[in-house]
Amino acid sequence: METALIILLIVAVLVIAYLALPSIISKFKKEAPAITAPLPSNFRLLLNEQVSFYKQLNPSKKTEFENRMQLFLSRVKITGVRTTVEDIDRVLIAAGAIIPIFGFPDWEYINLHEVLLYPDAFSDGFDQKGKDRDILGMVGSGAYQDIMILSQQQLRAGFENATSKNNTAIHEFVHLIDKTDGAVDGIPETILSDLLVTPWLDKIHESIKQIMENRSDINPYGATNATEFFAVVSEYFFKRPDLLESKHHQLYELLVTIFKQQPKKAPGVETPIDPVGGD
Ligand SMILES: [Zn+2]
Repeated sequence: METALIILLIVAVLVIAYLALPSIISKFKKEAPAITAPLPSNFRLLLNEQVSFYKQLNPSKKTEFENRMQLFLSRVKITGVRTTVEDIDRVLIAAGAIIPIFGFPDWEYINLHEVLLYPDAFSDGFDQKGKDRDILGMVGSGAYQDIMILSQQQLRAGFENATSKNNTAIHEFVHLIDKTDGAVDGIPETILSDLLVTPWLDKIHESIKQIMENRSDINPYGATNATEFFAVVSEYFFKRPDLLESKHHQLYELLVTIFKQQPKKAPGVETPIDPVGGD
């Protein structure tokens, strides 16, 4: 009788363990990113009209880009300050976020909760160096930790003019990537292998010297310091990779490696769309 009871108890324990197992396992499993809903069709239209990086992707990469934008938009709040946030702003902010980290499938902006959109240049209370660039977009610190501020006007202008080398959203998201390792110093240690740190720093110093000597077509604001150089040259790289490749080949090659991009011609306006290619 006692033996039967023990057997019964063992069976009961096994049954309970079997039933509870899936929920125990799921607790230890990495949570899969939840894609909420497909990107609204007008978002796709806006992407095709305004985002040359997206336009040159092949169909499956386009879908991946859209899904990652959706995930970003589901996790980061976008708030207009004295302005209304329109769909085009949501599309451009999310595209600016995804472009520099598209080579990193698991990347998420853990250091960003909210983007504040100001109508245009904002109070120089946030100004660091007194240069225009910094007051048209910035990554917050202190009370503004995990917040990015962008000028709506600059956000749109950065995508509208496909031949320029400037894009404020990409500039600020590259600062955020740089910040992920704890220091905003132009060395994105989270994505840069140790072996590349020295060649990267050498290239930064050489390029800054060229800017100072007026021998460069890189935005002079990049000569401010290594941090700004990294952000400025990343705008150039993602906006005009063809031009950067022809004018600054080594710099281009380093950025292809840093951002895990395919070394191929630009998604510039003059470049024909490659139906099978894409990064
Ligand atoms: Zn900057």
